[in-house]
Amino acid sequence: MISVSNIERFATHDGPGIRTTVFLKGCYLHCPWCANPETWFLKPVLMHKKQLCVGCRQCEKACPNKAISFQKDWRVERARCQGCGLCAACCLPGALSISGEVMSEEQVIREVMKDLDYYRESNGGVTFSGGEPLYQKEGLKRLLSLAKGNGLHTVLETTGNYPLEDLREIEQYVDLFLFDLKHVDERKLAEVTGGDLKKIMACFGWLSEKRPQDVIVRIPVIPGFNDDALTELIDYARSRNVREINLLPFHNLGKNKWQQLYLPYQYENEKSMSRESLQKYISDDVTIGG
Ligand code: SF4
Ligand code: SF4
Repeated sequence: MISVSNIERFATHDGPGIRTTVFLKGCYLHCPWCANPETWFLKPVLMHKKQLCVGCRQCEKACPNKAISFQKDWRVERARCQGCGLCAACCLPGALSISGEVMSEEQVIREVMKDLDYYRESNGGVTFSGGEPLYQKEGLKRLLSLAKGNGLHTVLETTGNYPLEDLREIEQYVDLFLFDLKHVDERKLAEVTGGDLKKIMACFGWLSEKRPQDVIVRIPVIPGFNDDALTELIDYARSRNVREINLLPFHNLGKNKWQQLYLPYQYENEKSMSRESLQKYISDDVTIGG
C-alpha cells in the first residue's frame, strides 16, 4: 500500500509527452516555498477553507477523536486527527476536505493505464513526484516495476535527500530523472529546507556519472534564497554533462494550501517571478520551465 496525495492526468510539464503525474506523500525537506505542503503529511490530511466556514460546529460534534475545537476560532489538533473524513462529510458549506488516500500500487497503476493511448501517441508516460517519492521507497519500487512491466515510460522527480543506497535500488526502473538542485551552500540549504547537501551530492554525483543524459536538473529560483547563486548552480550542473537544466521561477500558487493547513506562509507578499527576469541565463542547455 502507498499513500498518494493526488493523481493528475494530462500533465504536460513533468517529462516528455502527455503524462499522468502521481504525487506521493511524505518528504524529507520542508521548503518554505513548497507548492504542495499537503504532501508533507504521510497520512491523509484535513484541510479547512476559512472563508467557507460558517462556524456551525458540526465538525466538532462529528469527530470521534476530539481533534477539532473552537477556542476562538476553528482549530484542529493534528496529532489527534486520523484523517477519517467524518467531519468533512458533515460540513455542508464544503469548508473541510481530506487530501490524500492510501491505495494499493495496483490500483494506482490501473488509474495510470487509463490514458495509455495518449501516452503512445505523444511518447508520454507516468511521472512520480511528491513530496519526495523515495520517502515511501518500497511502494515506489513496486509502482515503478509495475509501470515498466506495462511498458510505460517512467519519470522520477526527486530531491536526492536520502541515502545513495535507496537511489541505487530504484534507478534501473526509471527512464528519466528530474533532479531538484536548490543550493550548493550546505549551511543555507540545511537552515532553510532541512536538506543535507552531502546526501544530495552523493546521489546527484553518482547518477550524473552513470546516466548524465537521463538527468534533467531542475532549479527552483527563490527570491532571497538562491536567486543570487544561480550562476554557481548552473555551472555545477553543467559540469556534470546533464541533459538539460531547467529554471523554475518562483510562484506563490501554493499559498491557499498553506492557509488551508494553517501553516505560516513566508511569501505572502512576494510576487510571482517573471520568466523575463531569468532570460539572461537561457542558453542551449538552460531553459525556463514551470
Ligand atoms: S462543519 Fe464546516 S462550516 Fe461547520 S464549523 Fe465545521 S468547518 Fe465550519
Ligand atoms: S478527519 Fe476524522 S479524526 Fe480528523 S478531525 Fe475530522 S473527524 Fe476528526
